[in-house]
Amino acid sequence: MTYEKPADLPDKIQLFIDGEFVDAEGGAQFDVIEPVSNEVYTRAASASKADVDRAVAAAKRAFDEGPWPKMLPRERSRILHKVADIVESRDDRLALIESWDSGLPITQAKGQARRAAENFRFFADLIVAEHDNVTKVPGRQINYVNRKPKGVAGLITPWNVPFMQESWKLAPALATGNTVVLKPASYTPLSAALWPEIFREAGVPDGVFNLILGSGGVAGDALVKHPDVPLISFTGDSSTGAMISTNASPFLKGLSLELGGKSPSVVFADADLEEALDATVFSVFSLNGERCTAGSRVLVERSIYDDFVARYAERAKNIVIGLPNDPKTEVGALVHPSHFEKVMSYVEIGKSEGRLVAGGGRPEGFPEGNYVAPTVFADVKPEARIFQEEIFGPVVAITPFDTDEEALKLANDTKYGLAAYVWTSNLKRAHNFAHGIESGMVWLNSNNVRDLRTPFGGVKASGLGREGGYRSVDFYTTAQSIQITLNEAHSPRFGAGS
Ligand code: NAD
Repeated sequence: MTYEKPADLPDKIQLFIDGEFVDAEGGAQFDVIEPVSNEVYTRAASASKADVDRAVAAAKRAFDEGPWPKMLPRERSRILHKVADIVESRDDRLALIESWDSGLPITQAKGQARRAAENFRFFADLIVAEHDNVTKVPGRQINYVNRKPKGVAGLITPWNVPFMQESWKLAPALATGNTVVLKPASYTPLSAALWPEIFREAGVPDGVFNLILGSGGVAGDALVKHPDVPLISFTGDSSTGAMISTNASPFLKGLSLELGGKSPSVVFADADLEEALDATVFSVFSLNGERCTAGSRVLVERSIYDDFVARYAERAKNIVIGLPNDPKTEVGALVHPSHFEKVMSYVEIGKSEGRLVAGGGRPEGFPEGNYVAPTVFADVKPEARIFQEEIFGPVVAITPFDTDEEALKLANDTKYGLAAYVWTSNLKRAHNFAHGIESGMVWLNSNNVRDLRTPFGGVKASGLGREGGYRSVDFYTTAQSIQITLNEAHSPRFGAGS
């Protein structure tokens, strides 16, 4: 199968500020490559601080003077449902270009496009159902909450499943009446370039959505340090999150940080092993392993360990590696040569830290591009780097345990705490174990399937804050509390004499 470039790709990707496509200051651009050949296929505008200032000024104007924050929730909701309709109607095209730009297998890219539409639908529905409590002290006082959008939301996103990640922030930020400046990852700007047309067609007023592209250190940094941006929602690496937290602190900004992970999948001998196998293999090798919630450490009870490892390795060896646009492909090419180098370096490190039972380098038949064979290391000790550090590729570490206590200790033995997966048929054990795990999210006997109403986020180095459902509404709004006295004010009469 030859690898065909999708038709009608743009020769340049521009910024979008105040309803217009514009070049960056001085025409600055950066190269955009596709990961199968690593050849440059287009160039994107590289925003300077001045460009970010323009985007923030436009968003602030749209917030202060435009209709968006003042619209009835139903009006905004209708527009956001249109966004969802448009995204759904273009899911084939979206999946094709996402897969081209990021190397994600096309079937998985299509699933993510649908999820992006669902994010808009969900927050469009939530905003019309949203309400706050009124409290009263009989005969004395009534208190109510005046919920207000915060202003210009700065949204900074990573390159894994880029369009879906962007939708996850755009939908609640816009639904709650904020205006936004989005700064997507520089490896994958192609699908982000679709947003301006989608929003325009749906009827989002000019200035409400602004897109800046470019490096994190320049464009992202300028957004984080901009005094007119009161909140930043960031998804990315833990070290970047820590830096953003430092840089935002002088401004006391609202921060939501969704960061890295090294999540455990814990398999007890009493689990449905067929289901556990399906899920633990999918968990680390779907989305090319470039998945923040990947179960990249599989902890297996000793009595089933050898058998489970053998079956796991067999599955990994049979995974279909292929061109990202081939519907049969299960693992495609990693996003960028520098990320490929990073993942390959961990594969080499792993060879001295564990027993290699599948993969271990480039897959056969893929001499070029960012291809890494699904790689499985068994007998990995907890002090190993491949047990402790986020690899963010198709590489898994498997470790045996003897007791529940040991399994819990191993599960918690990293700096991260994003997700965890537990496989057992013992109800008490499942819940007690889940409660003991230091992670923001736990799935019991389940692959990573998330209801959008549930909180999303991590603990420890995996993040700060929660989004999802009404928690996103909380993050993107100020809950102003208003108190009304129903009788006399009852103030002590200072200065009134005795
Ligand atoms: P990254 O931290 O390198 O970059 C993320 C974004 O931040 C990019 O847009 C980048 O340009 C920008 N950025 C970089 N430096 C910046 C700075 N100083 N100031 C402002 N912005 C800056 O992460 P990545 O390599 O794009 O993504 C992979 C990481 O994202 C992994 O660690 C993964 O686990 C994490 N991730 C987490 C979640 C989650 O929800 N917890 C989801 C997906 C990915």
